[in-house]
Amino acid sequence: MRWALIGASRIASSYMINAIRAQEGAEIVSVLSSSAERGEAYARENGIAQSFTDLDAQLADETVDAVYVSTTNEKHHAQALAAIAAGKHVLCEKPLAMSLEEAADMVRAAAEKGVVFATNHHLRNAGSHLAIRDLISSGRIGKVLSARVFHAVNLPDALRGWRINDAAAGGGVIPDITVHDADTIRFHLGEDPVEVVAKAGTSGLGEGVEDSVMSVWSMPSGAMVQSHESFTHRFAGTGIEFHGTDGSIFARNVMTQEPVGEIRLVTAEGESAVPFETHNLYEYSLGLFGKAVNGIGGPSADGIDGIKSLAVALAVREAAQSAKAVAVNYGGF
Ligand code: NDP
Repeated sequence: MRWALIGASRIASSYMINAIRAQEGAEIVSVLSSSAERGEAYARENGIAQSFTDLDAQLADETVDAVYVSTTNEKHHAQALAAIAAGKHVLCEKPLAMSLEEAADMVRAAAEKGVVFATNHHLRNAGSHLAIRDLISSGRIGKVLSARVFHAVNLPDALRGWRINDAAAGGGVIPDITVHDADTIRFHLGEDPVEVVAKAGTSGLGEGVEDSVMSVWSMPSGAMVQSHESFTHRFAGTGIEFHGTDGSIFARNVMTQEPVGEIRLVTAEGESAVPFETHNLYEYSLGLFGKAVNGIGGPSADGIDGIKSLAVALAVREAAQSAKAVAVNYGGF
Protein backbone atom coordinates (compact mmCIF):
# COMPACT_ATOMS: atom_id res chain seq x y z
CA MET A 1 0.00 0.00 0.00
CA ARG A 2 1.34 3.42 -0.96
CA TRP A 3 0.66 6.14 1.61
CA ALA A 4 0.63 9.93 1.44
CA LEU A 5 0.92 11.91 4.68
CA ILE A 6 -1.35 14.93 4.93
CA GLY A 7 0.38 17.01 7.61
CA ALA A 8 4.02 17.28 8.65
CA SER A 9 3.11 16.45 12.23
CA ARG A 10 4.85 15.23 15.34
CA ILE A 11 2.51 12.23 15.77
CA ALA A 12 3.49 11.06 12.29
CA SER A 13 7.23 11.46 12.88
CA SER A 14 7.09 9.99 16.41
CA TYR A 15 4.83 7.01 15.78
CA MET A 16 2.94 6.67 12.53
CA ILE A 17 5.75 6.75 9.95
CA ASN A 18 7.48 3.81 11.63
CA ALA A 19 4.18 2.01 12.16
CA ILE A 20 3.24 2.39 8.48
CA ARG A 21 6.69 1.18 7.38
CA ALA A 22 6.35 -1.85 9.66
CA GLN A 23 3.45 -3.09 7.49
CA GLU A 24 4.41 -5.54 4.77
CA GLY A 25 4.64 -3.83 1.39
CA ALA A 26 3.81 -0.37 2.78
CA GLU A 27 5.58 2.71 1.51
CA ILE A 28 5.26 6.43 2.29
CA VAL A 29 5.59 8.41 -0.91
CA SER A 30 4.79 12.00 0.00
CA VAL A 31 4.03 14.52 2.73
CA LEU A 32 1.92 17.67 2.61
CA SER A 33 2.87 20.77 4.57
CA SER A 34 1.52 24.32 4.39
CA SER A 35 5.17 25.45 4.34
CA ALA A 36 7.44 24.37 1.48
CA GLU A 37 10.49 24.75 3.68
CA ARG A 38 9.09 22.70 6.58
CA GLY A 39 7.71 20.09 4.19
CA GLU A 40 11.10 19.65 2.49
CA ALA A 41 12.92 19.42 5.81
CA TYR A 42 10.36 16.93 7.14
CA ALA A 43 10.58 14.80 3.99
CA ARG A 44 14.38 14.79 4.19
CA GLU A 45 14.47 13.95 7.90
CA ASN A 46 11.95 11.15 7.50
CA GLY A 47 13.18 9.66 4.23
CA ILE A 48 10.08 10.61 2.22
CA ALA A 49 10.68 11.17 -1.50
CA GLN A 50 8.32 14.07 -2.17
CA SER A 51 6.80 17.00 -0.30
CA PHE A 52 3.86 19.11 -1.46
CA THR A 53 2.18 22.32 -0.38
CA ASP A 54 -0.78 21.75 -2.71
CA LEU A 55 -3.18 19.02 -1.62
CA ASP A 56 -4.71 18.52 -5.06
CA ALA A 57 -1.26 18.03 -6.56
CA GLN A 58 -0.41 15.48 -3.85
CA LEU A 59 -3.69 13.63 -4.36
CA ALA A 60 -3.25 13.62 -8.15
CA ASP A 61 -0.69 10.83 -7.67
CA GLU A 62 -2.75 7.87 -8.80
CA THR A 63 -0.31 5.40 -7.28
CA VAL A 64 -1.29 6.57 -3.76
CA ASP A 65 -3.75 4.17 -2.16
CA ALA A 66 -4.24 5.72 1.27
CA VAL A 67 -3.68 8.94 3.19
CA TYR A 68 -3.00 9.61 6.85
CA VAL A 69 -4.47 12.96 7.96
CA SER A 70 -2.66 14.42 10.97
CA THR A 71 -2.89 18.17 10.59
CA THR A 72 -4.45 20.37 13.27
CA ASN A 73 -8.08 19.52 13.86
CA GLU A 74 -9.76 22.29 11.87
CA LYS A 75 -8.11 21.02 8.66
CA HIS A 76 -9.17 17.37 8.85
CA HIS A 77 -12.61 17.90 7.28
CA ALA A 78 -11.61 19.58 4.01
CA GLN A 79 -8.47 17.46 3.59
CA ALA A 80 -10.24 14.15 4.22
CA LEU A 81 -13.06 15.09 1.84
CA ALA A 82 -10.52 15.92 -0.89
CA ALA A 83 -8.73 12.60 -0.33
CA ILE A 84 -11.99 10.67 -0.44
CA ALA A 85 -13.03 12.46 -3.64
CA ALA A 86 -9.67 11.37 -5.12
CA GLY A 87 -10.55 7.75 -4.22
CA LYS A 88 -7.99 7.32 -1.42
CA HIS A 89 -8.59 5.28 1.72
CA VAL A 90 -8.34 7.55 4.77
CA LEU A 91 -6.91 7.12 8.25
CA CYS A 92 -7.82 10.35 10.01
CA GLU A 93 -6.65 11.67 13.34
CA LYS A 94 -9.01 12.39 16.17
CA PRO A 95 -11.03 14.45 16.72
CA LEU A 96 -12.32 13.80 13.21
CA ALA A 97 -13.46 17.39 12.85
CA MET A 98 -14.57 20.53 14.67
CA SER A 99 -18.29 19.70 14.50
CA LEU A 100 -20.50 16.65 14.31
CA GLU A 101 -21.86 17.79 10.93
CA GLU A 102 -18.36 17.93 9.45
CA ALA A 103 -17.48 14.50 10.83
CA ALA A 104 -20.71 13.06 9.45
CA ASP A 105 -19.91 14.59 6.02
CA MET A 106 -16.57 12.79 5.98
CA VAL A 107 -17.99 9.42 6.95
CA ARG A 108 -20.88 9.64 4.48
CA ALA A 109 -18.55 10.72 1.66
CA ALA A 110 -16.25 7.74 2.32
CA ALA A 111 -19.20 5.32 2.33
CA GLU A 112 -20.50 6.75 -0.95
CA LYS A 113 -17.07 6.53 -2.56
CA GLY A 114 -16.50 3.01 -1.22
CA VAL A 115 -13.18 3.77 0.48
CA VAL A 116 -12.11 2.67 3.96
CA PHE A 117 -12.32 5.45 6.52
CA ALA A 118 -10.81 5.01 9.98
CA THR A 119 -10.25 7.12 13.08
CA ASN A 120 -6.87 6.90 14.81
CA HIS A 121 -8.10 6.03 18.30
CA HIS A 122 -5.01 4.16 19.44
CA LEU A 123 -6.07 2.94 22.88
CA ARG A 124 -8.44 0.23 21.65
CA ASN A 125 -5.44 -1.40 19.94
CA ALA A 126 -3.47 -1.80 23.17
CA GLY A 127 -3.01 -5.32 24.52
CA SER A 128 -4.04 -3.95 27.93
CA HIS A 129 -7.37 -2.67 26.64
CA LEU A 130 -8.01 -5.79 24.58
CA ALA A 131 -7.49 -7.83 27.78
CA ILE A 132 -9.81 -5.54 29.78
CA ARG A 133 -12.49 -5.81 27.13
CA ASP A 134 -12.21 -9.61 27.19
CA LEU A 135 -12.64 -9.63 30.98
CA ILE A 136 -15.76 -7.49 30.74
CA SER A 137 -17.35 -9.25 27.77
CA SER A 138 -16.71 -12.71 29.26
CA GLY A 139 -18.61 -11.66 32.39
CA ARG A 140 -15.67 -11.83 34.82
CA ILE A 141 -16.89 -8.76 36.72
CA GLY A 142 -20.61 -9.41 36.22
CA LYS A 143 -22.85 -6.49 35.37
CA VAL A 144 -20.81 -3.29 35.09
CA LEU A 145 -22.01 -0.68 37.57
CA SER A 146 -19.45 2.05 37.02
CA ALA A 147 -16.19 3.06 35.37
CA ARG A 148 -13.55 5.63 36.18
CA VAL A 149 -11.00 7.04 33.75
CA PHE A 150 -7.91 8.90 34.96
CA HIS A 151 -6.32 10.61 31.99
CA ALA A 152 -4.78 13.71 33.56
CA VAL A 153 -1.26 14.03 32.19
CA ASN A 154 1.61 16.48 32.00
CA LEU A 155 1.47 17.84 28.45
CA PRO A 156 5.06 17.60 27.15
CA ASP A 157 6.74 20.96 26.44
CA ALA A 158 6.95 20.16 22.73
CA LEU A 159 3.14 19.86 22.51
CA ARG A 160 2.42 23.18 24.24
CA GLY A 161 1.44 24.98 21.04
CA TRP A 162 -2.01 25.05 19.43
CA ARG A 163 -3.37 22.50 21.97
CA ILE A 164 -3.24 25.08 24.76
CA ASN A 165 -3.80 28.39 22.99
CA ASP A 166 -5.68 27.99 19.72
CA ALA A 167 -9.40 27.25 19.91
CA ALA A 168 -9.74 27.72 16.14
CA ALA A 169 -7.25 24.89 15.52
CA GLY A 170 -9.20 22.61 17.86
CA GLY A 171 -7.16 23.21 21.01
CA GLY A 172 -8.25 22.20 24.50
CA VAL A 173 -8.08 19.02 26.50
CA ILE A 174 -11.64 17.99 25.60
CA PRO A 175 -11.02 17.56 21.85
CA ASP A 176 -7.54 16.24 22.60
CA ILE A 177 -8.09 13.64 25.31
CA THR A 178 -11.80 13.34 26.20
CA VAL A 179 -12.42 11.94 22.69
CA HIS A 180 -9.99 9.09 23.44
CA ASP A 181 -11.68 8.33 26.74
CA ALA A 182 -15.10 8.36 25.12
CA ASP A 183 -13.87 5.90 22.52
CA THR A 184 -12.26 3.67 25.13
CA ILE A 185 -15.39 3.52 27.30
CA ARG A 186 -17.54 2.75 24.25
CA PHE A 187 -15.04 0.03 23.25
CA HIS A 188 -15.22 -1.63 26.66
CA LEU A 189 -18.90 -1.29 27.42
CA GLY A 190 -20.29 -1.66 23.89
CA GLU A 191 -22.76 1.18 24.49
CA ASP A 192 -22.87 4.93 23.94
CA PRO A 193 -23.10 7.56 26.68
CA VAL A 194 -26.57 9.09 26.82
CA GLU A 195 -26.16 12.19 28.98
CA VAL A 196 -23.24 14.07 30.54
CA VAL A 197 -22.55 16.68 33.20
CA ALA A 198 -19.16 18.39 33.40
CA LYS A 199 -16.91 21.06 34.87
CA ALA A 200 -13.95 22.41 32.91
CA GLY A 201 -11.36 25.07 33.56
CA THR A 202 -7.76 26.08 33.35
CA SER A 203 -5.12 25.04 35.84
CA GLY A 204 -1.94 26.61 34.52
CA LEU A 205 -1.64 25.99 30.79
CA GLY A 206 -4.85 26.76 28.92
CA GLU A 207 -5.01 30.17 27.21
CA GLY A 208 -8.55 30.59 25.94
CA VAL A 209 -9.17 26.84 25.99
CA GLU A 210 -9.72 24.44 28.90
CA ASP A 211 -6.75 22.43 30.12
CA SER A 212 -8.70 20.33 32.63
CA VAL A 213 -12.13 18.72 32.72
CA MET A 214 -14.09 16.31 34.87
CA SER A 215 -17.32 14.78 33.66
CA VAL A 216 -19.88 12.12 34.55
CA TRP A 217 -21.67 10.17 31.86
CA SER A 218 -24.78 8.00 32.13
CA MET A 219 -24.91 4.86 30.01
CA PRO A 220 -27.99 3.08 28.60
CA SER A 221 -27.32 0.06 30.87
CA GLY A 222 -27.49 2.32 33.93
CA ALA A 223 -23.70 2.25 34.45
CA MET A 224 -22.12 5.57 35.46
CA VAL A 225 -18.79 6.79 34.11
CA GLN A 226 -16.49 9.32 35.73
CA SER A 227 -13.81 10.82 33.48
CA HIS A 228 -10.92 13.19 34.21
CA GLU A 229 -8.67 14.73 31.57
CA SER A 230 -5.99 17.34 32.07
CA PHE A 231 -2.76 18.71 30.59
CA THR A 232 -1.34 19.90 33.92
CA HIS A 233 -0.91 16.85 36.17
CA ARG A 234 2.75 15.97 36.49
CA PHE A 235 2.54 13.06 38.87
CA ALA A 236 -1.00 11.70 38.58
CA GLY A 237 -0.37 8.75 36.26
CA THR A 238 -3.21 7.36 34.16
CA GLY A 239 -5.66 4.54 34.61
CA ILE A 240 -9.06 3.06 34.07
CA GLU A 241 -11.27 1.08 36.44
CA PHE A 242 -14.42 -0.97 35.91
CA HIS A 243 -16.54 -2.03 38.85
CA GLY A 244 -19.12 -4.77 38.45
CA THR A 245 -21.44 -6.90 40.54
CA ASP A 246 -18.89 -9.75 40.59
CA GLY A 247 -15.54 -8.00 40.43
CA SER A 248 -13.44 -4.93 39.76
CA ILE A 249 -10.71 -4.21 37.22
CA PHE A 250 -7.95 -1.79 38.18
CA ALA A 251 -5.68 -0.82 35.27
CA ARG A 252 -2.82 1.64 35.77
CA ASN A 253 -0.66 3.51 33.28
CA VAL A 254 -2.71 2.18 30.36
CA MET A 255 -4.06 5.46 28.92
CA THR A 256 -0.89 5.91 26.90
CA GLN A 257 0.65 5.49 23.48
CA GLU A 258 3.06 2.80 24.72
CA PRO A 259 2.27 -0.90 25.29
CA VAL A 260 2.77 -0.67 29.04
CA GLY A 261 0.84 -0.64 32.32
CA GLU A 262 -0.62 -3.19 34.68
CA ILE A 263 -4.05 -4.69 35.23
CA ARG A 264 -5.39 -6.28 38.41
CA LEU A 265 -8.64 -8.20 38.72
CA VAL A 266 -10.37 -8.43 42.09
CA THR A 267 -13.21 -10.93 42.60
CA ALA A 268 -14.55 -13.06 45.47
CA GLU A 269 -11.67 -15.47 44.68
CA GLY A 270 -9.07 -12.81 45.44
CA GLU A 271 -6.77 -10.50 43.50
CA SER A 272 -4.72 -11.43 40.46
CA ALA A 273 -2.54 -9.76 37.84
CA VAL A 274 -3.97 -9.92 34.31
CA PRO A 275 -1.42 -10.63 31.55
CA PHE A 276 -1.67 -8.87 28.20
CA GLU A 277 0.08 -8.58 24.84
CA THR A 278 2.62 -5.77 24.44
CA HIS A 279 2.46 -5.13 20.70
CA ASN A 280 2.84 -1.62 19.22
CA LEU A 281 -0.61 0.05 19.29
CA TYR A 282 -0.27 1.92 16.01
CA GLU A 283 1.16 -1.04 14.10
CA TYR A 284 -1.76 -3.16 15.30
CA SER A 285 -4.23 -0.53 14.12
CA LEU A 286 -2.52 -0.21 10.72
CA GLY A 287 -2.61 -3.99 10.36
CA LEU A 288 -6.40 -3.94 10.70
CA PHE A 289 -6.60 -0.94 8.34
CA GLY A 290 -4.60 -2.81 5.70
CA LYS A 291 -6.86 -5.85 6.01
CA ALA A 292 -9.95 -3.64 5.72
CA VAL A 293 -8.55 -2.15 2.51
CA ASN A 294 -8.19 -5.73 1.24
CA GLY A 295 -11.83 -6.44 2.12
CA ILE A 296 -11.16 -8.35 5.35
CA GLY A 297 -12.95 -6.98 8.41
CA GLY A 298 -13.05 -3.34 9.42
CA PRO A 299 -10.56 -0.88 10.85
CA SER A 300 -9.96 -0.79 14.58
CA ALA A 301 -12.01 2.40 14.99
CA ASP A 302 -14.09 3.36 11.98
CA GLY A 303 -15.66 6.66 11.02
CA ILE A 304 -18.77 6.12 13.12
CA ASP A 305 -16.54 5.50 16.15
CA GLY A 306 -14.90 8.85 15.35
CA ILE A 307 -18.27 10.58 15.08
CA LYS A 308 -19.38 9.11 18.41
CA SER A 309 -16.25 10.01 20.36
CA LEU A 310 -16.52 13.55 19.00
CA ALA A 311 -20.22 13.68 19.94
CA VAL A 312 -19.40 12.80 23.56
CA ALA A 313 -16.60 15.39 23.68
CA LEU A 314 -18.86 18.09 22.25
CA ALA A 315 -21.52 17.22 24.85
CA VAL A 316 -18.93 17.39 27.64
CA ARG A 317 -17.81 20.84 26.47
CA GLU A 318 -21.39 22.07 26.19
CA ALA A 319 -22.22 20.68 29.63
CA ALA A 320 -19.19 22.43 31.13
CA GLN A 321 -20.02 25.73 29.44
CA SER A 322 -23.74 25.66 30.26
CA ALA A 323 -23.50 24.03 33.72
CA LYS A 324 -26.40 21.84 32.61
CA ALA A 325 -26.84 18.14 31.87
CA VAL A 326 -26.51 17.61 28.11
CA ALA A 327 -27.97 14.74 26.09
CA VAL A 328 -25.32 13.43 23.69
CA ASN A 329 -26.34 14.14 20.08
CA TYR A 330 -24.97 11.45 17.75
CA GLY A 331 -26.60 13.06 14.71
CA GLY A 332 -28.58 9.93 13.92
CA PHE A 333 -25.52 7.62 13.91
P1 NDP B 1 1.73 18.99 15.43
O1 NDP B 1 1.59 20.31 16.09
O2 NDP B 1 3.02 18.27 15.52
O3 NDP B 1 1.37 19.09 13.89
C1 NDP B 1 0.15 19.68 13.46
C2 NDP B 1 0.45 20.65 12.35
O4 NDP B 1 1.22 21.72 12.87
C3 NDP B 1 1.29 20.04 11.24
O5 NDP B 1 0.45 19.50 10.27
C4 NDP B 1 2.12 21.21 10.76
O6 NDP B 1 1.50 21.88 9.68
C5 NDP B 1 2.12 22.21 11.89
N1 NDP B 1 3.48 22.28 12.45
C6 NDP B 1 4.26 21.27 12.88
N2 NDP B 1 5.46 21.72 13.30
C7 NDP B 1 5.40 23.07 13.12
C8 NDP B 1 6.32 24.12 13.35
N3 NDP B 1 7.54 23.87 13.85
N4 NDP B 1 5.93 25.37 13.06
C9 NDP B 1 4.72 25.63 12.57
N5 NDP B 1 3.82 24.66 12.31
C10 NDP B 1 4.15 23.42 12.58
O7 NDP B 1 0.48 18.13 15.95
P2 NDP B 1 0.38 16.68 16.55
O8 NDP B 1 1.20 15.70 15.80
O9 NDP B 1 0.59 16.76 17.99
O10 NDP B 1 -1.18 16.41 16.27
C11 NDP B 1 -1.68 16.31 14.95
C12 NDP B 1 -3.02 15.63 14.94
O11 NDP B 1 -2.88 14.31 15.46
C13 NDP B 1 -4.09 16.28 15.80
O12 NDP B 1 -5.34 16.11 15.17
C14 NDP B 1 -4.06 15.50 17.10
O13 NDP B 1 -5.31 15.52 17.78
C15 NDP B 1 -3.72 14.12 16.60
N6 NDP B 1 -2.95 13.28 17.55
C16 NDP B 1 -3.35 12.00 17.77
C17 NDP B 1 -2.66 11.16 18.58
C18 NDP B 1 -3.09 9.73 18.71
O14 NDP B 1 -2.43 8.98 19.43
N7 NDP B 1 -4.11 9.30 18.04
C19 NDP B 1 -1.49 11.64 19.34
C20 NDP B 1 -1.10 12.99 19.01
C21 NDP B 1 -1.82 13.77 18.14
P3 NDP B 1 1.88 21.53 8.16
O15 NDP B 1 1.43 20.11 8.00
O16 NDP B 1 1.10 22.50 7.39
O17 NDP B 1 3.37 21.66 8.06
